[in-house]
Amino acid sequence: MGVKIAVLKEMTAGESRVSATAETVKKFIALGAELAVESGAGATASVADQAYADAGATVADRATVLANADIILGVQGPEPLSINGAKPGAWLVAGLNPFVERARVDGYAAAGVEALAMEFMPRITRAQSMDILSSQSNLSGYKAVLDAAAEYGRAFPMMMTAAGTISAARAFVMGVGVAGLQAIATARRLGAQVSATDVRSATREQIESLGAKAVFVENVKGIEGEGSGGYATEMSDEYKAAQAELVSSHIAKQDIVITTALIPGRPAPRLISDAQIATMKPGSVIVDLAVESGGNVEGAIAGEVVERHGVKIVGHRNVPSRLATDASALFARNLYNFLSAFWDKEAGRPVLPDEDEITQAIRLTQGGKVVNARLLGA
Ligand code: NAD
Repeated sequence: MGVKIAVLKEMTAGESRVSATAETVKKFIALGAELAVESGAGATASVADQAYADAGATVADRATVLANADIILGVQGPEPLSINGAKPGAWLVAGLNPFVERARVDGYAAAGVEALAMEFMPRITRAQSMDILSSQSNLSGYKAVLDAAAEYGRAFPMMMTAAGTISAARAFVMGVGVAGLQAIATARRLGAQVSATDVRSATREQIESLGAKAVFVENVKGIEGEGSGGYATEMSDEYKAAQAELVSSHIAKQDIVITTALIPGRPAPRLISDAQIATMKPGSVIVDLAVESGGNVEGAIAGEVVERHGVKIVGHRNVPSRLATDASALFARNLYNFLSAFWDKEAGRPVLPDEDEITQAIRLTQGGKVVNARLLGA
């Protein structure tokens, strides 16, 4: 009997994704694993129970799926008490939101589970295909533009019609990481005139190569190149003041603003104030993709579309889940790429070497203890 991999139905409200698809089930089985999928796990991501069964998985209730499982897959972290029955030392492989869900991490340790947080995957070439943050952010950036278009009472492209001309929408993307780049590309495809900004100087060329205009703070130095690991840090007060001035002069002319700025382990930076929103034209739309991390936009509310000064501020939660089928397909492949890369043929299961950079980054708990350096404040 091969290693048993359990695929759970997500219990978090508003979570429509699933951590395995028929495709990845088939691939795991080809490696020699036994797959057990909780009934209905894929229903909201367009994967029917029958599709899992046809791929070779057992489909059953949660207790049966968890019984003696070696590896548990999830999109988000389950309640520790909801995963009873797995083997001692079983791996839990999911997006575990470790800083926010710190109490759960203690729960996994107490339950004897080895929790592996996929969002802590290091940004190294070898791990690119395992990176859930990238795969999900890319879809968020795309969906943010569609969400903006849906709320906007006007068209994106310039149109010359017999009844007269409609001018192109002006879209401004703030934060040009994975989500921002996809937002630029998507807004351009819809026909908007796009500009974008970031604190990392390496993004200037990326913005321009997508045919958008780079709008940067010039008088105060930003972050050289990519920044550490591709991530931004909190900026100096001097930089923030210069950035606020830049935004004030630019934003009043924009119809659509998409904000994506994040700082790992800290609240999202505030980029747009209520006073700046008041200078925008009525009917403009702002989408704040950072709303669940504290928000880039003053007045944005997680899970709501609010109106301030005639401007709509869109704050959808869990944007990747709004494209559940593709988001699941990519998420599931990230998990498969990770587990198959560490597959040990003799052991018939994946093995994580203690000294591996990936192991050290993602392993949160082991042997009943929290072992992750980032969580232990190192
Ligand atoms: P992120 O989600 O952490 O942040 C989004 C963007 O917001 C970043 O570009 C960041 O610089 C920007 N930002 C932060 N504070 C800001 C502020 N005050 N004002 C304006 N912008 C601000 O970033 P991300 O999307 O995860 O990607 C960051 C980088 O990492 C990218 O260059 C990406 O290509 C790289 N990356 C590398 C790998 C890999 O090598 N395996 C994987 C994923 C991403």
